[in-house]
Amino acid sequence: PERAAQVRDLITDVPDFPLPGILFRDITPLLADGPALADVVEAFAGVADGVGSVDVVAGMEARGFLLGAPLATRLGVGFLPLRKAGKLPPPTERVEYELEYGSAAIELRAGTLTPGARVLLVDDVLATGGTAQAAARLVEQCGGVVAGLAFLLELVALGGRDKLRDRTVDTLLRVE
Ligand code: IMP
Repeated sequence: PERAAQVRDLITDVPDFPLPGILFRDITPLLADGPALADVVEAFAGVADGVGSVDVVAGMEARGFLLGAPLATRLGVGFLPLRKAGKLPPPTERVEYELEYGSAAIELRAGTLTPGARVLLVDDVLATGGTAQAAARLVEQCGGVVAGLAFLLELVALGGRDKLRDRTVDTLLRVE
């Protein structure tokens, strides 16, 4: 519990970023702290144990890469980057999703996900859940099975869990 409090204290609230009125939760100080980063990876490993077997970890760009890749190494499995549209060379699989204003798309390199593989999805923050829902759909579109979704921090008031209610969701920390 004491170390969980330390991890929590390393997540910094930044008002009015990236836009006025938005309170951004910044995990950069946590990434910079060796013991805290190791604690987070270990806690995610516990989540992986709880969802049954995990064949591969997938992370959402960009902070999902920073947490998901060390987790994959810890578990002894591979890592799949789920990237914003246009970053990966073709061929890719793609899912488009709605944002508050406009739309976005995420992509996975075709052929990198073994059909039937059990995938643990990882990201830093669960906010409205739109990104995570799109990521889960992308995994399934590629023939994977979503074993679970793991987040460092859940912004409870934004209701992301409602979008993911048929799925196994674990969050290490929660704030209103
Ligand atoms: P959602 O799609 O609204 O759930 O937003 C989640 C995505 O936006 C994740 O990829 C997060 O990394 C990012 N995100 C949203 N809010 C924050 C924040 O306060 N801090 C860091 N990342 C955030």
